[in-house]
Amino acid sequence: MERKSFQLGDIVQMKKPHPCGTNEMEVIRMGMDIRIKCTGCQHSVLIPRAKFEKNLKKVLRSAENKENELGQN
Ligand SMILES: [Zn+2]
Repeated sequence: MERKSFQLGDIVQMKKPHPCGTNEMEVIRMGMDIRIKCTGCQHSVLIPRAKFEKNLKKVLRSAENKENELGQN
C-alpha cells in the first residue's frame, strides 16, 4: 500500500487525470487548502486538503528524493 503522505514540492498522481491528459501534479502550496500545478500545461488549482487527500492516488516523486538528486550534481 502506498502511504498517502505528501509535502511541498512532491509530484503526485490524482485519481482523475487533468483534462489536458497529464496525470502528474506538483504540490506548490500547503495549508488548509492545497495548491497543485499540472506538470503538463502548468495550470494550477486550489483544492481543500480533504478533497485533495480523497482524490490523491499516489505520490510519484517526493521532494526529498529530488533534493538528493540535485545534491549529487
Ligand atoms: Zn494539465
